[in-house]
Amino acid sequence: MSLKFLRLSKLIKSLMILGFATSSLAQAQYEEIDSIERIWEHVTSDSLVILDLDDTVIEPQQTLGGDKWFYDLIDQRRAAGHTLEAALELALQDWTEVQHHVTMKPVEPRTHLVIRKLQAGGNRVIGLTARDSTLADRTIQQLSKIGVDFKISPISRKSVILDEKTNLRYHEGIIFVGETKKKGQALLKFLDHHRVRPKHVIFLDDKEKHVRCVEETLNELGITHVALWYKGAEAKNSAYNRDIANLQWHHFKTEGTFLTDEEALKKLQ
Ligand SMILES: [Mg+2]
Repeated sequence: MSLKFLRLSKLIKSLMILGFATSSLAQAQYEEIDSIERIWEHVTSDSLVILDLDDTVIEPQQTLGGDKWFYDLIDQRRAAGHTLEAALELALQDWTEVQHHVTMKPVEPRTHLVIRKLQAGGNRVIGLTARDSTLADRTIQQLSKIGVDFKISPISRKSVILDEKTNLRYHEGIIFVGETKKKGQALLKFLDHHRVRPKHVIFLDDKEKHVRCVEETLNELGITHVALWYKGAEAKNSAYNRDIANLQWHHFKTEGTFLTDEEALKKLQ
């Protein structure tokens, strides 16, 4: 056996041991929570906090413009005979139109305060949203109205297109992924672009599929993390009512204003 070969096999062995040690040191935790305040149980001085936006940080004042309405629009289009792709495209058009006018509120009365406290405490906090980057400026306006600014302590303040083909963009502390793309892969592209491997990540999202997807990426990277399936919006909101949403949509299209859920319900009775 040549000396060169011996050195090479020694190096491979060392790398294998290092890889094993890294992955065995990384700790993964998964939890379901119904209040954003539960984040404090996990925050360390090294934590990078990654937050979904819709139904995690913000939600509309009424049913129209919300996530449940969006997914119901897809169902309605599918029932009308559209393919999933066409139904999604049409639903996105309507949802996006509403986003340009709708006023948002924090999901919990203290959501924006928790984010500010994390930022003031020196934690890096970024957004990771399924919203398309064409809505980036409008999203930042919506967040600013509730006192949330992801530019305060991000990984980088520089906006960047992470992938031109998929329109993946990082802007003002938020990664805009797009509805059909994977959040885990988007996060990986973001971390690679900035050559960053955080020591500890806390990720919050109201959709289990996104929590699992990001969790998978963090596991592959061997990053210690806490993946939190956030159910705060689900827990406090009443059941979705399609009639209320449809009436609000009709009113918005004809009058250009929003009916509250109470006003819509009254009109329906
Ligand atoms: Mg969400």
